[in-house]
Amino acid sequence: MGPHSMNIHEYQGKQVLKEIGAPVSEGIAILKASEARAAAEKLGGPLWVVKSQIHAGGRGKGKFIEESAGEKGGVRLAFSIDEVVENAEQMLGAHLVTEQTSDAGKQVNRLYIEHGSDIERELYISIIINRETSRVSFIASTEGGMDIEGVAHDTPEKVINFDIDPATGFQPHHGRTLSKALGLSGDLAKQCGKLGKILYNGFLAKDMAMLEINPLIVTEDGRLHCLDAKISFDGNALYRHPDIEAMRDETEQDEKEVEAEKYGLSYVALDGNIGCMVNGAGLAMSTMDIIKLYGAEPANFLDVGGGATKENIIAAFKILTSDDKVKGILINIFGGIMKCDIIAQGTVDAVKEVGLKVPLVVRLEGTNVEEGKAIIDNSGLNVISANDLDDAAQKIVKAVNG
Ligand code: GDP
Ligand code: MG
Repeated sequence: MGPHSMNIHEYQGKQVLKEIGAPVSEGIAILKASEARAAAEKLGGPLWVVKSQIHAGGRGKGKFIEESAGEKGGVRLAFSIDEVVENAEQMLGAHLVTEQTSDAGKQVNRLYIEHGSDIERELYISIIINRETSRVSFIASTEGGMDIEGVAHDTPEKVINFDIDPATGFQPHHGRTLSKALGLSGDLAKQCGKLGKILYNGFLAKDMAMLEINPLIVTEDGRLHCLDAKISFDGNALYRHPDIEAMRDETEQDEKEVEAEKYGLSYVALDGNIGCMVNGAGLAMSTMDIIKLYGAEPANFLDVGGGATKENIIAAFKILTSDDKVKGILINIFGGIMKCDIIAQGTVDAVKEVGLKVPLVVRLEGTNVEEGKAIIDNSGLNVISANDLDDAAQKIVKAVNG
């Protein structure tokens, strides 16, 4: 399990789109309402759009919790500079609830003020990695701007899917398929072919995991234009895109995930109550299976990888114990490159440093396993030692569930 994919904000996505040559509106991101007037003046009218920047879709139809934010949603048209300022003052700091957030909503800490477009039609286009065909795949529909899941469910014939062969890349016939799916002809079809190729090449060049433009619009003066942008990137490829890595907004991420990433650990939150520290994705899966087999559910997985140090283990332990949901911890490590004595020492040091309020079961196997077990047995700490995976799972489930 490598790091997850990374999401960015719409305004950052549009920066990326602009860079790869896709048509987007001019806009300025702001963090304070006092910046709204200058931004609106710089962009010029007659129409502006004030857009909440949160990592969740459905902003247009969203509702703010605070009454002071007004009745309108998280994407607002403004017809004067004063209106831009007024909306910015209302929205910044308020909590926006959409169908993709929890009931508590997400606090809007950034706004994107954009030059408004005159819309003739709203279309839908996205690019994903199709895991069934192992290809990059386009999804297109004439029914953009609203709930695409609903369209796919009620009228699946209106959502067109096609794959791109990596050996040929995006060909003119793909452009024609795309234009047809979007109901475009003439010059718009030509623009569409060009845009499809730009997006496909950009998707590959930037190691995207997903790109969604909803809506892609036809403007009243006959241009194809990207009005929204939702992009996520392959976490395992971020090391070669420092410009994209720099777009990370940690306030949008789970604190524990941020902390895990800092130490090169990968953390996956789940719904149960047993915290799991493992090394390797396969071991994570089998640990999850066996915990379930004995009637409990994992609260998370923390994969410490192959080359963790004592510091990583301590960090991992702190992340696990900081979660109130965790009622017991299972450390299940197969020592290969990672030596069992290092894990054991890290665990003992971590318990001494952060304390232990829940039962801890440790199962070690592999390189230096005897040294590892000795470190734990001689530590004087209340750690339950297990002989194999089966034994470990039974012991932690019993300790947690009684
Ligand atoms: P989402 O609701 O989070 O997907 O946010 P969008 O960026 O897709 O905006 C929601 C809706 O606001 C769009 O579907 C459009 O109908 C409308 N909208 C956004 N930008 C503009 C614009 O420049 N002009 C006009 N007229 N409407 C816009
Ligand atoms: Mg949208």
